Amino acid sequence: MRGFPPSMTLLRARSASEAVRLYAENPLAIPVAGGTDFMVSWNMGLLNEKTVLDIAGVREWAAVEEAGAVLRVGALATHAQLRDHPAVRRDFPLLAQAAATVGAVQIQNRGTLGGNIANASPAGDTFPALAVYDARVLAVSRAGKRSIPFVDVFAGVKKTILARGELISAVELPFLISKPDRQVFRKVGTRASQAISKTVAAGLLWLARDRTVAKARFALGSMAPTVRRLKAAEGFLAGRRLTPAVVDDAVALLAENVSPIDDIRSTAAYRLQVSRNILRSFLSPQ
Ligand SMILES: Cc1cc2nc3c(=O)[nH]c(=O)nc-3n(C[C@H](O)[C@H](O)[C@H](O)COP(=O)(O)OP(=O)(O)OC[C@H]3O[C@@H](n4cnc5c(N)ncnc54)[C@H](O)[C@@H]3O)c2cc1C
Repeated sequence: MRGFPPSMTLLRARSASEAVRLYAENPLAIPVAGGTDFMVSWNMGLLNEKTVLDIAGVREWAAVEEAGAVLRVGALATHAQLRDHPAVRRDFPLLAQAAATVGAVQIQNRGTLGGNIANASPAGDTFPALAVYDARVLAVSRAGKRSIPFVDVFAGVKKTILARGELISAVELPFLISKPDRQVFRKVGTRASQAISKTVAAGLLWLARDRTVAKARFALGSMAPTVRRLKAAEGFLAGRRLTPAVVDDAVALLAENVSPIDDIRSTAAYRLQVSRNILRSFLSPQ
């Protein structure tokens, strides 16, 4: 690769089995897929003397395909693929909408879903959608394969539970049994593109025949070290009618599952207020 510092060793995998073997043999190697986060580290000089494992050529991890009860999205599927894919747009529209907000078109063309997850930023824009769709992450290493509930993949800011030598191969999205009555995706940043989220939200809601809430799922990013499902509000809403008082109480419960901070992009107070506004308008549409 032109421009690579001579001190950097580049390993290239052309198949899944080769990627797993090379990573097992070089457990300190840094995987690279689309390279959008990787390039930032490169520019900061953090990759000198490192071994890099390029997995971009593993074509079997790039497909988006139906597999029985799930849509299997290969780890190398790009945000552009997710944004445009008919099955993602039809069955998992919040994920397609989220992918369309990542960076701008250039980043969407190169950045992958696996890279977004492995990077484990608190502000990963696909995360709330994956959380409300109850996605699972498929990981593979020489020790074998495992399927991890999406929200359990994260151990903290920029940390996952993936072991050394373990790669994300795909994400599985279970098809919803019934169409939600309401759904929302909202990203709030400083600009329409190339903005890191101040808060990012996804929600699904099903109503019963008697107009009580059959099921509610709501998740927030940029509001805690890792993506959070609003379990307190979800549990409270189940079986209740969406009266103004119930909506007020559900919105008040939002704070139970998040711990926003002040940083260069926003304040904790702003993040909390905007997230509450999103939840309120989702529960009580005009
Ligand atoms: C200008 C810019 C704007 C951005 N805007 C956004 C944004 O709005 N929203 C957002 O969510 N993100 C944003 N990002 C972050 C980044 O583009 C995404 O996280 C992207 O999805 C990363 O994918 P990638 O394939 O490029 O990852 P890479 O850079 O190739 O890798 C990222 C990390 O994941 C690891 N990795 C990659 N693939 C795997 C795998 N299959 N298994 C295990 N580990 C793996 C790598 O070792 C590395 O640590 C932005 C980045 C830039 C540079």
